[in-house]
Amino acid sequence: LTVGVVAESRPGERRVAMVPKLVARLAQRGLRVVVEPGAGAGAQLADDAYVQAGAELGDAWAADVVLKVAPPSETEVGKLKTGTVLIGFLDPRGDPEGIAALERAGVRAFAMEAVPRISRAQAMDALSSQSSVSGYRAVLLAAEKFTRFFPMLTTAAGTVPPAKVLVLGAGVAGLQALATAKRLGSQTTGYDVRPEVGEQVRSIGAKFLDLGIEAVGEGGYARELTAEERAEQQRRLTEAITKFDVVITTALVPGRKAPTLVTADAVKGMPAGGVVLDLAGESGGNCELSRPGEDVVEHDVTISAPLNVPSGMPTHASELYARNVTELLELLVTTEGELKLDFSDEVVAGANVAGREGSAS
Ligand code: NAD
Repeated sequence: LTVGVVAESRPGERRVAMVPKLVARLAQRGLRVVVEPGAGAGAQLADDAYVQAGAELGDAWAADVVLKVAPPSETEVGKLKTGTVLIGFLDPRGDPEGIAALERAGVRAFAMEAVPRISRAQAMDALSSQSSVSGYRAVLLAAEKFTRFFPMLTTAAGTVPPAKVLVLGAGVAGLQALATAKRLGSQTTGYDVRPEVGEQVRSIGAKFLDLGIEAVGEGGYARELTAEERAEQQRRLTEAITKFDVVITTALVPGRKAPTLVTADAVKGMPAGGVVLDLAGESGGNCELSRPGEDVVEHDVTISAPLNVPSGMPTHASELYARNVTELLELLVTTEGELKLDFSDEVVAGANVAGREGSAS
């Protein structure tokens, strides 16, 4: 069985779906790894490193299994032969047309976003691995835009107070942001609508902001707030946010537009030089003033909503992603390296988004 590692074509995408470190592990399974020349270049992974690890350079699109990061373009779908197994972020919720195109092309597609988030599949959870990168980078990006120090400094030239950082949404990205902001020496506070998060926030040494609004949804996620709850949350947050220099937002509700947590009034109430770093830009943003992909300055506060944040740290983001992909791939092949799609397995069935019909092997 051949496994193809293709170069990503989306503008700005620097990650790659497989790293040299894991090639030997695939080879041990009897898999032949074919890498498109230059596939790892954006992540500083040279073709030679793949070859030394046992891969070949060649036409990766012709492989039996193709590994990707971003969804394939129309042209790329055209390069996949019927029956190819495709593994990648395929955006099944946001891009049903893209999935339909894969179905028409006879591609057996597995979306990393659709891997069930159960304990057994934790090592395949690419949403979590990439959210960790985002949470970490969000703090660095915010610190860079902030015109002051994060830590408290006592120097001969005077004392500098620590920055006050609030993280809204304390899931995987939010907890990583809190831990990173704490390591940089700021005073950190986390907020979420899932009550069990309070404990997790405190365990990393941050304070928990309790606004008395709980919204637990299905599968461990938050649910969308009702109109009244939303208005109340915005009112209480607007008041709370005036006390913070930096606000990092990570709140998402599966399948919905991201909730607005930071209103224009809240921005107005922040100290001059403040920063709102909105990680929810791809889902519409958590701040009323965010413009996805841009930085704007309003009321002397910088509001930044960067897109594809994990791609900005491509080496480790690729390494973690490749590990997630390897774990899923190992579930789809036998120990002898033969393809075996067992749709009675909830992880295999859950991740499969196209090409189930006629999948005999
Ligand atoms: P997410 O990216 O969907 O959302 C980020 C955070 O935003 C969540 O914590 C959510 O509660 C919060 N949020 C949503 N609406 C909000 C609002 N109006 N106000 C404030 N906060 C709001 O979530 P995620 O980080 O991917 O993970 C969410 C849950 O999934 C967590 O419970 C996590 O432990 C769980 N999870 C489980 C597994 C597993 O078992 N394999 C793996 C990863 C995550």
